Amino acid sequence: MKCRLCWSDKAYRHTQKGLKAMIYSCLGLVPLKCHHCYHKFWMPWFMTWGQALEPPKLIEPSQAKPQQQRRCAV
Ligand SMILES: [Zn+2]
Repeated sequence: MKCRLCWSDKAYRHTQKGLKAMIYSCLGLVPLKCHHCYHKFWMPWFMTWGQALEPPKLIEPSQAKPQQQRRCAV
């Protein structure tokens, strides 16, 4: 999803709590947060169709392939 402020393609769904979030979600608005400039905004649900709302998963160091250890043949 594109950010309204910086136009980067790094705005993803952001969970919000509270009365304001409940009212906005009843109105069909989706909370989004830009991972580039940290701008938070609301978008109508129909404008989020077909858009990537989840950030790409990072590879944890434990899941990354271990580097091959090179040993000197003595
Ligand atoms: Zn942004």
